[in-house]
Amino acid sequence: MLQELNAINLEFPWFFRSLAFILGAVVGSFLNVCIYRIPAGRSIVTPGSQCACGRPIAWFDNIPIFSWLILRGQSRCCGRPFSIRYPAIELLTALLFLASWWLLAPSIAPVGMLFSSILICATFIDLDHMIIPDRFTIGAAVIGVIASLLVPTLHVTPSGFHALDVMRSGFESILGLLIGSGIILWIALLAEVILRKEAMGFGDVKFLGAIGAFVGWQGAVFSIFGGAVIGTFAIAIVLLIGNLKSRDSRPLPQPDGDDQEPETNAVFGRQTPFGPMLAAGGLLYFLLLRPYVDAYFANISDLFR
Ligand SMILES: [Zn+2]
Repeated sequence: MLQELNAINLEFPWFFRSLAFILGAVVGSFLNVCIYRIPAGRSIVTPGSQCACGRPIAWFDNIPIFSWLILRGQSRCCGRPFSIRYPAIELLTALLFLASWWLLAPSIAPVGMLFSSILICATFIDLDHMIIPDRFTIGAAVIGVIASLLVPTLHVTPSGFHALDVMRSGFESILGLLIGSGIILWIALLAEVILRKEAMGFGDVKFLGAIGAFVGWQGAVFSIFGGAVIGTFAIAIVLLIGNLKSRDSRPLPQPDGDDQEPETNAVFGRQTPFGPMLAAGGLLYFLLLRPYVDAYFANISDLFR
């Protein structure tokens, strides 16, 4: 069976790539629901997709990417505009699923798709609410550890002893979780002392812990610094467009059903969510830069031997 699939993949490489893209678009449609409902504490399963007027959306009006284009961004029932963000998230998820399949080993690709989905969800929840709910980040960390136990090649090269690989991979995952959240916790505490105000939300501490559970400690460390570089460029672009002005005057949406204060980041003197930058750094490491970053860390630790 596996050999047969392999043969199909070699003969028709675009077959599985197309499947990965379509699967991503469908999952992206589901992520839109999660992004909207998880912060509100609502079920992500029932009811099915609804228009803002309360009427259910028919399946043929709910086809990822296409329906939005066919309906030109308006709902069929009442003509309410649908944000371009919906098809954009579907397309983004589709592209990341395609990249996971294309760039990663077949056994690791499903974890890449899972990881991408979690990061997209966290990114847009953070952009909307300036907070990522605890039950989401802690849940993601647990999923990261479980994925590492199920797919040990995520962290270790096979030794020939499966049980040993599972233990080593689980160890790397928990190490990534602890080092990731530990480093960002210390950065946050130091920044508080230096800036004399809360510089980084403690939601980010748990979020980077979840990223570390998937990518190990090297990936977690890269997420902070790579994420900061990506974030600096992103902020420069956003400032150029001038979007941040309108954001400043907008009142913060309050997450309901959550006992935390909305956490804010004041590093750049305005409300800047750090979660999306960590997500971008983590994804870049996982999909593209892992061999280079790991070699870099190996060189550094050699210096101290
Ligand atoms: Zn409607």
